[in-house]
Amino acid sequence: MLSVRDLHAGYGGKTVVRGVSLDVPRGEIVTVLGANGAGKSTLLKAIIGLLRRSAGTVELDGRPLPNETPDRALAAGVSLVAEQRELFLGLSVADNLRLGGYQRRGAPDLDTDMQRLLDTFPVLRKRAGQPARTLSGGEQQMLAIARALMAKPAILLLDEPSLGLAPKIVDEIFAIIAAVAAAGTGVLLVEQNAAMALDVAQHGMVLELGEVTLAGPRDSLRQSEAVTSHYL
Ligand code: ATP
Repeated sequence: MLSVRDLHAGYGGKTVVRGVSLDVPRGEIVTVLGANGAGKSTLLKAIIGLLRRSAGTVELDGRPLPNETPDRALAAGVSLVAEQRELFLGLSVADNLRLGGYQRRGAPDLDTDMQRLLDTFPVLRKRAGQPARTLSGGEQQMLAIARALMAKPAILLLDEPSLGLAPKIVDEIFAIIAAVAAAGTGVLLVEQNAAMALDVAQHGMVLELGEVTLAGPRDSLRQSEAVTSHYL
């Protein structure tokens, strides 16, 4: 389980995330809802050390996740798919996937895992030799998720995976996210599409101006006036 306690983070002197606590059990999806600028991306960046936390702790299965660089978080088992996807656009789909498994290089099951991911994402198998830049937006999002999964993370952090994608592709992406969780990975899902996020998540929270103003099981959020009036 990923446990975040009283996390504070920001930019320069400006605190953006103020005292956020949350738990993401393995095999479950926890969604973070919030308006633009609420601090959702900042929260994810501070969890993995893309941004230094000014206070608070992050633990995976009781072991502290260092307040350092994302590669340390990745080695510990926490992987982020950033909003910008950050693919290697000039490299092939297959090479992007191989790079996702960089920290596991030499592992005997690396190739099997890549084949399994290509089964999960048939469109990536079809395009395995193509440069990532030739993929559609939806395919690039799938590649970004598949690349993150090549690290075999215990916890996957997803920042707005549906952003800018056609409804049919969004359905596919959400089905994949649900399957990833069902296979045992914990997912922390930041989404603007609150209705779909609450369909797949077990728990959720609302972030406003960097603070959690509401949190609970998905059905309690769905029924909450604050969520229905602002996010659904
Ligand atoms: P969105 O849905 O628009 O991505 P968000 O909830 O993810 O919003 P953040 O991107 O975390 O919000 O931004 C929270 C606040 O931090 C905003 O006021 C934003 O302007 C500020 N901010 C984000 N990135 C930086 C940065 N690199 N330097 C300074 N301020 C930043």
